[in-house]
Amino acid sequence: MIRRSDPMIAVYPGSFDPVTNGHLDIIRRAAAYYPRLVVAVVTNPSKKPLLSVKQRADLLREVCATIAGVEVDCFDGLLVDYVRKKKASLIVKGLRIVSDFEYEFSMALLNRHLPGGVDTMFLPASLEYAHISSSSVREVFSLGGDISDFVPQAVLRTMKRIGRHGLTRKRSR
Ligand code: ADP
Repeated sequence: MIRRSDPMIAVYPGSFDPVTNGHLDIIRRAAAYYPRLVVAVVTNPSKKPLLSVKQRADLLREVCATIAGVEVDCFDGLLVDYVRKKKASLIVKGLRIVSDFEYEFSMALLNRHLPGGVDTMFLPASLEYAHISSSSVREVFSLGGDISDFVPQAVLRTMKRIGRHGLTRKRSR
């Protein structure tokens, strides 16, 4: 799928609601392999998001500002179409646990099978972040728990501004 002549641009897609230290670890590692990495916020998730697409992208821009070669963007529609539009040649995904594998493996096959198919590179989660997900961060925060080990400072500030009651209200709507 990847030809030697393809540009060295990879796309790391996700909801990033919010970006966690686990995502950031994958971004740092992928950016070390690929000279250009596009971190792409999915704008049409089936689940109701906590943060707006703009908030999620702005936070990503802030926390990735010092990582060379990283660009933050948003997309909707088919991932393979977006990857081609960005002239990228690879999708990057992080794998945490066995249950991630089932879903991500079938998505990778699908994205390769579709016209204009694109291959996926999986990076295993680092041990210290393997238990972190955006949904668990939202859950712990809404119950009044400490999330400072799980997210970058900028995210912590934004979550505190929204407040846990704001978050609970938003989720119960
Ligand atoms: P989440 O599953 O946390 O809501 P996303 O939908 O934003 O996150 O996930 C985007 C990608 O990042 C997926 O490939 C997912 O497996 C990966 N990812 C999420 N959290 C981590 C983590 N803690 N370590 C490694 N990869 C992760």
